[in-house]
Amino acid sequence: MDILLFGKPGAGKGTQAPMLAESLGAATLATGDVLRGAVREGTPLGKKAKEYMDRGDLVPDDVILGIVGEALASKPYANGAILDGVVRTVPQAEGLEKVLKSVGRKLDALVYFDIDNEHIVERLSGRTVCEKCQTPYMGRNAGEKCEKCGGTLVRRKDDEPDAVRNRLKVYERQTAPVFDWYRRNGARIVTVDAVGTVSEVTQRARKALGR
Ligand code: AMP
Repeated sequence: MDILLFGKPGAGKGTQAPMLAESLGAATLATGDVLRGAVREGTPLGKKAKEYMDRGDLVPDDVILGIVGEALASKPYANGAILDGVVRTVPQAEGLEKVLKSVGRKLDALVYFDIDNEHIVERLSGRTVCEKCQTPYMGRNAGEKCEKCGGTLVRRKDDEPDAVRNRLKVYERQTAPVFDWYRRNGARIVTVDAVGTVSEVTQRARKALGR
């Protein structure tokens, strides 16, 4: 199954992706995680992406489609992908459609995580992530250790208030139209109320997908 997780930054896509991946037998692909890994390792990809990411702007479409094309043709994604934050512009939606077609698949559903801006700002100001495996945490301080891999928790630079405001603007301007593109193209869209505990939201998403 190939499922696209869609919604504002901070809607909980990154938290829900591994839960849904496990129950659907698919692998998670999060372009933000791939890019942060590249920035940390100082690769050419990371050097190109860093300034966009720090400002909360989008990394160019060709860079994203390169990551997506390579990943989806690889073995870990043979049984499907849970795509987290992967499609943020209409050209990316068109590109993803081509990539999936080239491996004989098409998107099964788009899960829209519905949340208002007030909850987003509150969530992102209290978020830390593991520097190593990228697991997000709420209410844990930077410097503490990750429960999953023992890595150090850090605050994301783009979770600072100015960058969050910019990310929300970028979402409205560039990413929200993607939702209409999928609707016009007849995609199966399920909407999930994203305010609640992690397990409540997972249950809602699974129920909406009929799994
Ligand atoms: P995320 O972890 O999904 O919030 O992504 C963090 C940052 O990585 C974004 O603010 C963008 O700068 C960049 N990024 C991740 N995925 C994409 C994408 N599909 N298109 C453009 N930029 C992206």
